[in-house]
Amino acid sequence: MLTAEIVAIGDELTSGQRLDTNSQWLSQQLADLGIRVLLHTTVADDLETGIQCIRQALQRVDLVICTGGLGPTADDLTRETIAQATDRPLQQDDDALTHIENLFRARKREMPARNTIQAMFPEGSLVVPNPHGSAPGIDLTIHPENRQSARIFALPGVPAEMFEMWEATVQPRILEQIGDQRTLTVHHQIKCFGVGESDLEQMLPDLIARGRQPTVGITVSNATITLRISATGTTEADCRNLMQETIDTIHNCLGDLVFAEGELELHHVVHNLLREKELTLATIECGTSGLLTNWLSESSLEATSYRGGLVIRQPSQFEQLWNEPQLASLTSQTAEQLVETVAQQGLEQLATDIVLVLGPEPTDQSWTHDDDRIHYGLAIRDHLSCKSSPFSGHPAILQARSAKQALNHLRLTLLSLPNKTAD
Ligand code: AMP
Ligand code: MG
Repeated sequence: MLTAEIVAIGDELTSGQRLDTNSQWLSQQLADLGIRVLLHTTVADDLETGIQCIRQALQRVDLVICTGGLGPTADDLTRETIAQATDRPLQQDDDALTHIENLFRARKREMPARNTIQAMFPEGSLVVPNPHGSAPGIDLTIHPENRQSARIFALPGVPAEMFEMWEATVQPRILEQIGDQRTLTVHHQIKCFGVGESDLEQMLPDLIARGRQPTVGITVSNATITLRISATGTTEADCRNLMQETIDTIHNCLGDLVFAEGELELHHVVHNLLREKELTLATIECGTSGLLTNWLSESSLEATSYRGGLVIRQPSQFEQLWNEPQLASLTSQTAEQLVETVAQQGLEQLATDIVLVLGPEPTDQSWTHDDDRIHYGLAIRDHLSCKSSPFSGHPAILQARSAKQALNHLRLTLLSLPNKTAD
């Protein structure tokens, strides 16, 4: 399997003014060709540092892809950098110069003298045409001492030009180089919720081990854990076959901690279950800034199963929701009584099959409680339930995690209900 390094060049990247999205895109393209990207290097517009980076890159990988620094201005040093790093003089390519001259002519502009630099290439390079821009790319193969060959491509930083040149020229040339050695890597995601990352890892014996085929990676984002299984093979079917046993093991070990495969989030799964069971839902939330309402109202989701959400900021507002004696002085009740009563009332008032109530936050100043947990209540027809979770951890994810805990409680409850039969 070929290895690659991406070298992104530009002061705007190293100074933090611009995000290096080109490296992300190039990595995805290389992965599609079965090439393993070992490094991303980001370097300023500085000749000496650039030379060092490119020399090192050519020593350690088969393929170096540079992006940026091919423009005509004094800070665009990639041509010079590659020439010096590989000890090859810059030479003019007449066809490339004609292309640049024609481009200026077509735009009815005079070509500044500096643009001739864009027709200069390190000796032995092939040109990578840039149909819509004045910066052709470089394709140079060298023969370092430590191995047979290493190849460097340099592409412009302007994303649209880079994409076009990759697809028209670079990718076909790399494919030609790989020949029938081509492999591809297929990824599969399994989404889990309900335990911490390290607890989940312990439930998966040896699956996360390095160097395993297929590999299993684990990442966590706002309390949702994603397991990413990747297999490399010669066809997609080979890769899927390689993965199947691992996928089955994960399902056996994790049971209903797994809520989806692929890109689905908890609220998508809840929507699907509601549709399957032919049930409607309304939510009432306090302290989560309307997260449940926001997620469940996502425009791509079918509107009929979600009736809508009430969002309040303080527990005392629960009392003002409906003019019902039962709701008077709710805030003197325990959190459990409070969410259950509101869920029950919601069911009567909102013409829906299910009401999910979330909050208030235990830290809410207007509500004095010893409890340090967040409570969520669920009313489904004549069934009332309440659960709670610790409300601790980084403040940045508390709300999202609480909203997901409530959704997950709803998901598990829906899973336990029988499907509606044609009665
Ligand atoms: P350059 O080819 O270095 O003249 O870059 C031209 C423009 O492309 C820059 O001003 C940036 O706006 C954009 N650009 C350069 N490098 C990157 C990168 N790595 N990721 C995203 N945009 C980039
Ligand atoms: Mg630049």
